Amino acid sequence: MKYVAVLLATMMPFMLLAPVRATEEALHIVATTTQASDLLRILSDGRDGIMITSLMGPGVDPHLYQPTESDIAAMNRAAMVVYSGLHLEGQFDTVFAALGEQGIQTYAMGEPVKEAGFIVGGFDLSDRYSNVDDPHFWFDPRNWEITALDLAEALAELDPQNAQAYRDNAASYTAQLQALFAWANEGLRSIDEARRFLVTSHDAFQYFGAAFGWKMQAIQGLSTEDEAGVGDIQATVDFVIENEIPVLFVESSIPPDTIDAVIEAVGAQGESVRVGIRELFGDAMGEPGSFGGTYIGMLAQNALTIMQSYQCMGVDVDILEWDAELLPKPPDDLWNADCDE
Ligand SMILES: [Zn+2]
Repeated sequence: MKYVAVLLATMMPFMLLAPVRATEEALHIVATTTQASDLLRILSDGRDGIMITSLMGPGVDPHLYQPTESDIAAMNRAAMVVYSGLHLEGQFDTVFAALGEQGIQTYAMGEPVKEAGFIVGGFDLSDRYSNVDDPHFWFDPRNWEITALDLAEALAELDPQNAQAYRDNAASYTAQLQALFAWANEGLRSIDEARRFLVTSHDAFQYFGAAFGWKMQAIQGLSTEDEAGVGDIQATVDFVIENEIPVLFVESSIPPDTIDAVIEAVGAQGESVRVGIRELFGDAMGEPGSFGGTYIGMLAQNALTIMQSYQCMGVDVDILEWDAELLPKPPDDLWNADCDE
């Protein structure tokens, strides 16, 4: 170590005289959720030497995820930690506070959306969370645009040499998000308004519903930290029967038990209801490298799954052709709904 230090010291004058660096300085950023790492990857496109460490993988429930020792070590080494915020990462509060005390920069993606006034209050069957900010803001692509533009500014401040690249990437990405919104909005609103109910295991889709004109009902509240009780199940059963809802959806980050219990209880009362043809991506996206492993793919696949599942139950839906400018392109097998699945 000493030898290296001496060597570096003797080399220093030459290094200072070097005209231009061949490679850019490394920049290490930690992302808590899959959504955060996807956005960082897009905004830093073309920036050499960036290292994005993602703490939570596909299918992980961020409400319950406990940071490991290696997660904490990675955050301590990072130039910036990007997280979702609004208490989504329920087990990270003390860690974020400690990082702040150490002067490590943290960035909460929900903050600019809250400042813009687009965060809604929580609401669930028992009203337990009525005074809490709903943390699932990213499910409205217009909120994700706000976050993309603001995070690009935070990166530009952190790494001024590449400021223009972050801003350019954010600008082209927001155009993509607008195309995504237009595609999903037209399809999801083609269903008769009286039939537009999205019933899921936990209350992650309020923003999605508000964006695309759907009414939401969830068995659990805003966080999965509180378990659903018999009363929550029964209330959902009554709601499904009352509104003649034909299909319920399981989320990829949550076990299907509560949805299965509702389907069974509805069936026991002689009514027919089925589970969606695919799981919805709730708080976690799909495998990296897959369509659902990107924000655009995740949202588009959810929209397709909902539209196709309703179509399978005989509801009229007008699913729009994919916008060729919008990337990534959905795989062909996603367009062919297998209603018997
Ligand atoms: Zn959630």
